[in-house]
Amino acid sequence: MFDHEFDDFWEQIHLTFGIDPNSKSKRDAKNFAFQSVKEIPGEVLEIAKDQIATLDSLPRNIVKQVHHAWSKWKIRNPDRIVREQGEEDHPKCPFCEDGNIFVISRKRGCAPRTTFFACGHCRVGGSTREEIERIGWEITNPKRVRQVTHAA
Ligand SMILES: [Zn+2]
Repeated sequence: MFDHEFDDFWEQIHLTFGIDPNSKSKRDAKNFAFQSVKEIPGEVLEIAKDQIATLDSLPRNIVKQVHHAWSKWKIRNPDRIVREQGEEDHPKCPFCEDGNIFVISRKRGCAPRTTFFACGHCRVGGSTREEIERIGWEITNPKRVRQVTHAA
């Protein structure tokens, strides 16, 4: 985000609660807070603002509010995180475990087979849950995969 975006956000959330955003201590607090959130996309501030507006008073920890809003933003925009952060830094994608979707196949009379697919929700060239289910796999999670593998 840009500092002017954070300035506007800071001013608005303070004015929402009738607090002067330009006192010396508030300006110092703002500069300090900005250092902790400047890597976060500016549009996250809209979510943070809405979130703060529902509270009864201005939260003491604004940085925490912005980070919380960022988590929400990441869940809503899994496709955009890959572009902005690169594939190495796996975002918390709600559809997978660290970029992988674990699956199991059960056929009568056979031991269950387990494997995983690259997650198409957060990785380029991966498969989405819908695609995986359409070709007949049952989606599971790593803990269960280990148990089944052990049993088989
Ligand atoms: Zn994913």
